[in-house]
Amino acid sequence: MPAVTKIEIYKLNIARQTPFHIAIGVFNEVQNVLVRIHADDGLYGVGEGAPLPFLCGETQAIAFEASRALAGLLIGKDPYAIETRMQELGSYLVHNTTARSAFDMALYDLLSKRAGLPLYALLGGAKRSLTTDETIGLDTPAAMAQEALEAQERGFAAIKVKLGGGWPEDVARVAAIREATGAEMLLRIDANQGWDLVTAERILHELARFDIQYCEEPVAHWNNEALRRVREQSPIPIMADESVFDHHDAFRLASMGACDYFNIKLAKSGGIHTALKINAVAEAAGIQCMVGCMSETRLGLTAAAHLMSARPNIVFADLDSAFGKTDVVKGGITYHGGNITLPDGPGHGADIKPEVLESLECCTI
Ligand code: MG
Repeated sequence: MPAVTKIEIYKLNIARQTPFHIAIGVFNEVQNVLVRIHADDGLYGVGEGAPLPFLCGETQAIAFEASRALAGLLIGKDPYAIETRMQELGSYLVHNTTARSAFDMALYDLLSKRAGLPLYALLGGAKRSLTTDETIGLDTPAAMAQEALEAQERGFAAIKVKLGGGWPEDVARVAAIREATGAEMLLRIDANQGWDLVTAERILHELARFDIQYCEEPVAHWNNEALRRVREQSPIPIMADESVFDHHDAFRLASMGACDYFNIKLAKSGGIHTALKINAVAEAAGIQCMVGCMSETRLGLTAAAHLMSARPNIVFADLDSAFGKTDVVKGGITYHGGNITLPDGPGHGADIKPEVLESLECCTI
């Protein structure tokens, strides 16, 4: 039986040029966790967890300590029995989805390397052409319109607009962006739970004239009933994000008729293993999905892009968290404007540059 021989856990910090504001918090710096799982056949897999404390309840320090505990469970075990391994990790730590997602990503990388297949092919999928939007953080209407214009000039055909500031500012933000970018630009909005039911209803009706593709998480993540009521009267389709972590959430929201779309993120689902289950529930309910991101480098984004490529029910991508930061990744997806190209080699095909890895705080189990 193949066995895990060693696991390295790293803290990966990358400065942001400017803070990025959303309704529930601010990103000042990328503070991620990396996991490398080595097997006795000489192969290793690498995974990245991108903790957002205000969304998943994990800081880098929490995810790092959780990873040490999870690593202890894997030593000596068969890394290719992913179903069993993820069951073990999930029953040992029921939350900590970000830490678990790093292990899941590393295990899938390892298995697809062992199979000699790119990850999308291991998942039974084909290589598809993928297109991401670019996200504009909360700011003044004029500053957001300027950023949207710059994204358009860089070749993006879709823009995700962070809202949740309230009425009437959020209407002014979208009006300014639509005015700047013209009628062709695809606009998606994300309130990040920033509205109450009454505000959501008012704003969504006012925004309908700006041709909005969908609205993510309009109200508090725990209030599924309010989400259902918003969706019932909204002229704009509703996407669940913070309210859907796993397939149980997906089943509940689908059963309630609470949303039109799901936003799958590996840091919420605990990785690909559960993301596949969310997508399966979505397919059964006739719901299409987006794959999104937290603060991943191109490594975590590459794994997410493989998942999307393998599942045609995932029709939207928001895989832009590496933009505007120092690129520490070797291999992986490449961007041309919003178009994403996947690598063809075995595994997910991304790794951290060796010279960067050497400088990181590391713990070996
Ligand atoms: Mg969102």
